Amino acid sequence: MSYVDEILEKLIIKNPSEMEFHQSAKEVLESLRVVVEKNEEIFRKEALLERLTEPERIISFRVPWVDDNGQVHVNKGFRVQFSSAIGPYKGGLRLHPSVNQGIVKFLGFEQIFKNALTGLPIGGGKGGSDFDPKGKSDREVMAFCQSFMSELHKYIGADTDVPAGDIGVGAREIGYMYGQYKRLTGLFEGVLTGKGLTYGGSLTRTEATGYGLVYIVEEMLKHNGGKNFKDKKVVISGSGNVAIYATQKAQELGAKVVALSDSSGYVYDKDGIDLDLIKEIKEVKRGRIKEYADAKDSAIFTVGKGIWNVPCDIALPCATQNELDLEDAKILKKNGCSAIAEGANMPCTIEAVDYFLENNILFMPGKAANAGGVATSALEMSQNSQRLSWTFEEVDSKLKDIMLNIFAKTNEASKRYGLEGNYVAGANIAGFEKVAEAMQFQGIC
Ligand code: NDP
Repeated sequence: MSYVDEILEKLIIKNPSEMEFHQSAKEVLESLRVVVEKNEEIFRKEALLERLTEPERIISFRVPWVDDNGQVHVNKGFRVQFSSAIGPYKGGLRLHPSVNQGIVKFLGFEQIFKNALTGLPIGGGKGGSDFDPKGKSDREVMAFCQSFMSELHKYIGADTDVPAGDIGVGAREIGYMYGQYKRLTGLFEGVLTGKGLTYGGSLTRTEATGYGLVYIVEEMLKHNGGKNFKDKKVVISGSGNVAIYATQKAQELGAKVVALSDSSGYVYDKDGIDLDLIKEIKEVKRGRIKEYADAKDSAIFTVGKGIWNVPCDIALPCATQNELDLEDAKILKKNGCSAIAEGANMPCTIEAVDYFLENNILFMPGKAANAGGVATSALEMSQNSQRLSWTFEEVDSKLKDIMLNIFAKTNEASKRYGLEGNYVAGANIAGFEKVAEAMQFQGIC
């Protein structure tokens, strides 16, 4: 049996019921076959893939908190410190009822390669809780965040592990967690990124993932027939941080974004999304996507999934894992969609990705496409270490350079292995090569 097959088989046995982790390990290791086959003897001897797929540490803990009626609740908290081969653990915290160990492990595993692709010195980690911030008062969210950090602070630090936001964690949650960290440790340090601008946050961090996604897609389009976003019809799923700023940048580049969604359904606006209105509903009022259609005559709201039925030239899934399956992929192709890029982590199923690759539809995987967020978090860490604040333009220009560089590395690695145009393989190989070399230099650890 090949080394890759052996590892995948063992991984499923050792980590039963962690479906999302199995899926991401399969997606990564399948595309690394070409590299592993070339180095099989040494990788086996060093148990390189065993070490790569086993987190350095998993911290799992109880998070008790009190609601506004005095009722006590208990959630599960996690931090997976997956790999410190190239730098301190870095990756977001997700607050969503679906969070479990398998989801946090898949996200942490993906993060290793994504972070390597940015070219910055950051390892891979991820965390979160099954707490649902939706419908909670600010005080309840604060109570949860303080309790969560009361445990997590023991394991993180500016030079060891630097969490950030993810689904359900924005500026409000980061603020409460930062305050509690400072209170418990007495340290004012860059232990979290995505901080508010008044206490060490970086300009452009809020926009970074969405902007970065659009920058890399523009580069991919340019390399494939000299195309661009101008006058393209774009469908974006989600309406959170990534989706909103992808909409903004795509519109700036001349695209018409016609649909956005949340977990209740999607809106189609034939005139193009009104950015100020969606920001008001989602960022200020923390409302539902339906309110957009209530407020705008040109928009209609449809309950449930189905956003991929809206015809478009470019599709950007920016909500959550496995939100776009094979059937959706076929519909997108039938409707003339020619480019897809993952703003979310693993939003496309393996079958959907294979379909895009087999049908010559341009496809950029999340670990390259959404790396702008973590890259800008690393820029926030640099500014915190130097006690400096860079301008919006400085950070944005560095972000753009990083995204173009990620495209170049991804493209180069795919070509080197005779897989030109397969950016899934290119991104996995380029990220892996850096991490594997660092692991080999550091001996068995
Ligand atoms: P937000 O919490 O800001 O927004 C998430 C959006 O996705 C919301 O519109 C939410 O709808 C929707 N959504 C979440 N879960 C589901 C679900 N199960 N079904 C349908 N819709 C869902 O998160 P972000 O925008 O920060 O993150 C979105 C994705 O991007 C995630 O996969 C995240 O891991 C990834 N990502 C984020 C980065 C960042 O910098 N923020 C960096 C890199 C990747 P609702 O409100 O109804 O739940």
